[in-house]
Amino acid sequence: MTTTRFAPSPTGYIHVGNLRTALMNYLIARKAGGTFILRIDDTDPERSKEEYVDAIKQDMEWLGLHWDKVERQSDRLDRYAEAADKLREMGRFYEAFETPTELDLKRKKQLNMGKPPVYDRAALSLSEEEKETLRAERGNGVWRFKLDHERIEWNDGILGDISINAASVSDPVLIRGDGQVLYTIASVVDDTEMGVTDVVRGSDHVTNTATQIQIIKALGGQCPRFAHHSLLTGPQGEALSKRLGTLALRDLREQGVQPMALLSLMARLGSSDPVELRSDMAELIEGFDVARFGSAPTKFDAQDLFPLTAKHLQSLPLSEVMDAVSEVGVPADQAEPFWAMARENITTLSDLKGWWELCRDGADPLIADEDSAFIAEAMTLLPEGPFDGETWATWTQAVKEATGRKGKGLFMPLRKALTGMERGPEMATLLPLLQVIRARG
Ligand code: GLU
Repeated sequence: MTTTRFAPSPTGYIHVGNLRTALMNYLIARKAGGTFILRIDDTDPERSKEEYVDAIKQDMEWLGLHWDKVERQSDRLDRYAEAADKLREMGRFYEAFETPTELDLKRKKQLNMGKPPVYDRAALSLSEEEKETLRAERGNGVWRFKLDHERIEWNDGILGDISINAASVSDPVLIRGDGQVLYTIASVVDDTEMGVTDVVRGSDHVTNTATQIQIIKALGGQCPRFAHHSLLTGPQGEALSKRLGTLALRDLREQGVQPMALLSLMARLGSSDPVELRSDMAELIEGFDVARFGSAPTKFDAQDLFPLTAKHLQSLPLSEVMDAVSEVGVPADQAEPFWAMARENITTLSDLKGWWELCRDGADPLIADEDSAFIAEAMTLLPEGPFDGETWATWTQAVKEATGRKGKGLFMPLRKALTGMERGPEMATLLPLLQVIRARG
């Protein structure tokens, strides 16, 4: 059965880059009728925070990305220790004692000599005695996985056939000197034991994947299918990594972005399918295919979320936005016509307030000198109430007959006098909502 996971580290709020990963894994699982696991990668006790675990869940719920199971790596430390023992027994695990400064020096030397900065495995030739001495001097070493120097190959769901020379990669550190288990092994143990069949993650993980494939094989596990999506850039192709912090899902939510707008964009951006507003999750699932994504960096512009949000809001019936409509103070008996008017004229729900203020308080009229007599005459011709969708037509017809004005010369001064603006909602829908006018009806 298809099983996928989204595996955030709870060291911050999730942003659009994380969402891309989460969504792809979610859609794969749902399309196949499989299982979607939310896995909290919290093996780092210093950086992991409970508040971020809660925030990640809230953000996922806001988007409707429901998970079937939650797993936490901090609950599974004994499993990782067992795997580490196995690797040790197999002779694939060795202790190394270089300090970060020493490693840095080695890397610089290699680079100076035009060589790739790969760990030289000096620790492999330490005798037990030397290790004892180093341990006494420096404390416990880190544990590195000894890669087999061969080509590591897989067919990537997005990048196609990949082949990496293991000799060009440093033996990965899987356990730190203080005993902290690192993601690289924890993830392998989890993916294997949880029966994960498909792993989609960012292309910054390609080298990890190469080493993880060897670890999985060493531990006798089954390799999942891997796919690596491109990383997001800003609208001009600039790196987004530093700005991702400002693109947290909760910030977008604060700015009024609607979940369907965000999902519609992120589920297709960077694929050969067009980005357009989808009506619900089922539609997103239906048309999703990870193979349609390209390997080129994907441009993301948060501004694109707003037209999609506007379009989504436009499609909603009053019942879905009733809370927001009541909140700005629209009386229940006017909620329906108010929403019919407003939904055509808002980008986010926060724009409702301004439209209701216009309806409630009226606007500063915009009346040109040459129109003042015309407006005064028009006001005397306002039909008897109650006002409805026909009132505007009846009224402007009467004004036309009385003044001889027509077209723009008739409508524009009236619009400006009533709304203080040259453009805006359909006057026929707006007029019955203008409270001052209503009061006269
Ligand atoms: N916690 C890892 C990350 O956020 C998970 C990567 C993976 O999907 O394996 O980068």
